[in-house]
Amino acid sequence: MIKLRGVSLVYPNGTRALDDVDLEIEKGSFVFLVGHSGTGKSSLLKLMYREEVPTSGEVVVDGIRVDTLRRGRVPRLRRNIGVVFQDFKLLSHKTVWENVAFALQVTGTRTRDVMRMVPRSLDLVGLSHKSRMFPSELSGGEQQRAAIARALVGNPKLLLCDEPTGNLDPSNTTEIMELLQRINLKGTTVVVATHNQPVVDRMRRRVVRLEHGRILHDDERGYYFRGL
Ligand code: ADP
Ligand code: ADP
Repeated sequence: MIKLRGVSLVYPNGTRALDDVDLEIEKGSFVFLVGHSGTGKSSLLKLMYREEVPTSGEVVVDGIRVDTLRRGRVPRLRRNIGVVFQDFKLLSHKTVWENVAFALQVTGTRTRDVMRMVPRSLDLVGLSHKSRMFPSELSGGEQQRAAIARALVGNPKLLLCDEPTGNLDPSNTTEIMELLQRINLKGTTVVVATHNQPVVDRMRRRVVRLEHGRILHDDERGYYFRGL
């Protein structure tokens, strides 16, 4: 699903965020990206959905060369990728329903399809009963579920999550991680950047650890810290 080869990213101010990264992620897998703040996790995700372009190296997502993709083709790439952020990024003046529907409307989806797809996605995250509420009327966990519904509504093959539980308490964190696991079991490839050690250690999934923009280790059923 994802293949990075010799990828480096140097920001215009000279910060080297990623340094010669090689990484392969299989279709249907669940992967944690861990490491200290500022170590390149967000940057790595941004390369995958073409928010950033590598300074050197190749990025392939679902068979598409993302690093050299022409600007006009980016929307099509993004349709295959759902992205979830720490701060939810919901539109505050739109209801839950409208937030989820909006993701489809901007890609020109027909109303008939929107009416069919939005309820299915809200049902998946268990938020059907709050579809008429505004983000400010929801708990943090519910807001993140709404954001996940929005990310998934177009049936993307890949879900990228950047610190999805960073603003949540432990019980909401558990709930969101269980939701991400369920989504993965339905076949979506899920990549989660996090520094939530308990979550990573409980789940025993693949763990890719970054340090100073490099992959320090990569374990199939790993822990947050290797050797614990
Ligand atoms: P995280 O990935 O930990 O959730 P961010 O990606 O927002 O957080 O930022 C990580 C680090 O990158 C922070 O130290 C932040 O100040 C820095 N950073 C983010 N965007 C920029 C930018 N445009 N210019 C310089 N530094 C930035
Ligand atoms: P993480 O997600 O692990 O916190 P990031 O990928 O956000 O790390 O950041 C990696 C490095 O790149 C940090 O040193 C950060 O300050 C820097 N950085 C991130 N975004 C920018 C940016 N837009 N401009 C300059 N530096 C940035």
